Amino acid sequence: MIPQGWTIGRLAGVEIKINTSLLLIAFFVAYVLANGIFPLVVPNAPVLLYWLLGGFFSTLFIGSVLWHEMAHVVTAQRYGLPVVQVVLHLFGGVAQIARDPERPAHEFWIAIAGPLSSVVLAVTFGALSTLDGLVGAGCAWLAQVNLTLAVFNLLPGFPLDGGRVLRSILWRLSGSYRMATRQASRVGQVVAAIFVLFALWMIFRGLWFNGLWFILIAAFLYSAASASYRMAVGASLPMQTTVRQIMRYNVPLIEPTMPLALLAWRYLDHARDQAFPVVQQGQLVGLITSAETDKYPRLEWGRVHVDQVMIPLARLATVSPDDTIATALRAFDRTDTNHAPVVYQGQIVGMLNRRDIVYRT
Ligand SMILES: [Zn+2]
Repeated sequence: MIPQGWTIGRLAGVEIKINTSLLLIAFFVAYVLANGIFPLVVPNAPVLLYWLLGGFFSTLFIGSVLWHEMAHVVTAQRYGLPVVQVVLHLFGGVAQIARDPERPAHEFWIAIAGPLSSVVLAVTFGALSTLDGLVGAGCAWLAQVNLTLAVFNLLPGFPLDGGRVLRSILWRLSGSYRMATRQASRVGQVVAAIFVLFALWMIFRGLWFNGLWFILIAAFLYSAASASYRMAVGASLPMQTTVRQIMRYNVPLIEPTMPLALLAWRYLDHARDQAFPVVQQGQLVGLITSAETDKYPRLEWGRVHVDQVMIPLARLATVSPDDTIATALRAFDRTDTNHAPVVYQGQIVGMLNRRDIVYRT
């Protein structure tokens, strides 16, 4: 599903890759600018100048796609979601985020950050397009490209950014992640079908290149939307489900004095997405996750102890095995947390994670 590519560097700790298909497009862009656009703006300039500026603006074009993806990356990281890599390819780019957001609001902001950042670039290049000559023409072209990038990505079909925005809204309204995913991917399939009709119309009008291009995009969209739909098929967990049915049992209890290095070696490195209850003489005193340990550089993990970084009890939600998942979700929202120790008759009997609930409802 995710196209591969060559690593061109790292940004914000994330590997940036470029797919061969985008290099072909970049060459095509340079060609069109050098042969189609620039000679019309300033005729009789040296051919080498057309090509140099064509290459320059083509690089800025790739930079624009990267800028868009980085907006997704930075927002995802703000919400504590690790980003695996960014791949720039034919249809733009993919910021591959390790897991889906656990809250509709997070998904909304991560998704909309990309198109918003493209609008910012479109406005900036639009302002620069008043410059004279070829540079102004290049900026005008980039303004148009970035605006197209924003508008295209805002189409409401999942998995486009607009589809994610739609899913986050449906998810927020219904409370059901699976249902929202199914509805948003259905809309994605419809958007793909409209693309095909549009493509046929263009082909009939003789714009065969644009038509074929749209069919390619439609095929890409349709298969991605269908894959998302299939993943969300299956019954949703009813909101009356009790915590005991989905909680994790057999959770290791952590001593407050344990150095982070030992915690990582024994537990966290094997389960980066898990939270562990911190217990002192049988009493729950806090919770520790990788988000807390990551606040310290790894080199210092030998001398920093769990109780120096843990989420203290006062900021935690605890749930009972007999609570419903609706109650548990409200507790998560109230305390703004994603993990809750399950307490039964004063004893910690397990852990409940927000993501154990949301992706199944
Ligand atoms: Zn995007």
